[in-house]
Amino acid sequence: GDIADDLLRGLGGLGSGLTEAFSDPVIRLGVTGLSRAGKTVFITSLVANLMDRGRMPGLRAAAEGRILSAFLQPQPDDTVPRFDYEVHLDELTGPAPRWPESTRAVSELRLSFRLAEAGLFGGMRGPRTLHLDIVDYPGEWLLDLALMEQDYAGWSAEVLTRIEPRVEAAGYLAQIAGLDAAAAHDEMRAKALAEGFASYLGAARAAGYSDCTPGRFLLPGELAGSPVLTFAPLPKPAEIPRGALWREMERRFEAYKAKVVKPFFRDHFAKIDRQVVLVDALGAIHAGPRAVEDMRRAMAGILAAFRPGRTGWLTGLLGLRRVERILFAATKADHLHHLEHAKLTRIMAALMRDAKDRAEFAGAETAAMAIASLRATVEESVRHEGRMLDCVRGRLLDGGREAAFYPGDLPDNPAALLAPAREGATQWLDADYEVMAFAPAVLKLKPGEGPPHIRLDRAAEFLIGDRL
Ligand code: GDP
Repeated sequence: GDIADDLLRGLGGLGSGLTEAFSDPVIRLGVTGLSRAGKTVFITSLVANLMDRGRMPGLRAAAEGRILSAFLQPQPDDTVPRFDYEVHLDELTGPAPRWPESTRAVSELRLSFRLAEAGLFGGMRGPRTLHLDIVDYPGEWLLDLALMEQDYAGWSAEVLTRIEPRVEAAGYLAQIAGLDAAAAHDEMRAKALAEGFASYLGAARAAGYSDCTPGRFLLPGELAGSPVLTFAPLPKPAEIPRGALWREMERRFEAYKAKVVKPFFRDHFAKIDRQVVLVDALGAIHAGPRAVEDMRRAMAGILAAFRPGRTGWLTGLLGLRRVERILFAATKADHLHHLEHAKLTRIMAALMRDAKDRAEFAGAETAAMAIASLRATVEESVRHEGRMLDCVRGRLLDGGREAAFYPGDLPDNPAALLAPAREGATQWLDADYEVMAFAPAVLKLKPGEGPPHIRLDRAAEFLIGDRL
């Protein structure tokens, strides 16, 4: 039995190796970011603009007319949900546009290109095919990587210290105050604690914090209610008898690592060639210095996952495979007048440099950009108290009122955000930003109105341009 099995496996491996060698090349593009960062809108708009070109001048292959066609095909992974492209596109571009349902789990979409060869003699060779497999997954799952290096006691202590000053954590901290973690395990109590902690995570996320792990607590999918998600950080008691609540929590924490985190890295993360990390930097800046500090810690955590000299088990999974390019993109740049975009780009670049230093990251090519996958605003200058304000005009989600808004200032020097204590903490984006939740605009493509996105073409050029 065993020998025959091994032989069959060997042959199977050989078979897939052979077909790989003779089939068309594939790029696997990972799209991630914390919930509400803009993944779903990004993928929908990217695919729409690649299929229906003419609005992607910054993508060289498109500008040079070398993309003969781009079309959707069945994806290679039969058990991964398909990214619901058509439904999302309908929602965004219908007569009454609305934002699509956000990413809740992994999904995938294959876009295939027929490409003309570049260069003088390119025309003599026939067109070639390239497949782009787009893999959408929650950034929260990526941040779970940090848990792999921790044990339950260490994780609990760190989390409890970190959340202690946060108002969002008051409820959970009250719940565990005076709790006897050495008492016998009781499922109802474990459930109440897990729910309390999950509701803290939700509130922290809504308040602009990024470090909202364990990631499945916010996006549980089919694991909702299972023991592997029914744990929470507790202070370690001096004595831990058998059957204690603390011990059961510890066991579940380890199960979460082994049965949730590790399989994700093995089945999805390990296969990615190019990665875009979407960041709601404007939201964090508006939320204030603590949220910015937290965001840069999260960015370093994300880069750590892509670091070549990473921890043993991950190296074991990935072998020599490496992500070649990583783009950090601040989304929703259409909240700003274009004169402010350079500031946002500088902030992203500074955050990325900082994250690279913290994660001691080297290897993949990286870039930072400010983008809007779908522009919901047009620009307008408004006279206000004797000076001209560079505003954006859009229709509010809430109530549908259309007006011009000024989000507030961004610092000229990113250091004011990265070291607020030294530079004097200031509130940024403190004018209209709070109310600027725009509805997606009805797609108008009149000349002079500009493309329906901001720098999506540049993002695509960085991510896949070299292979087109
Ligand atoms: P996901 O959770 O990462 O999949 O995030 P979504 O793609 O669902 O985006 C979350 C929300 O951010 C959307 O519902 C929109 O309100 C907003 N959003 C995303 N992209 C843009 C954009 O390009 N412009 C504007 N104005 N809002 C955006």
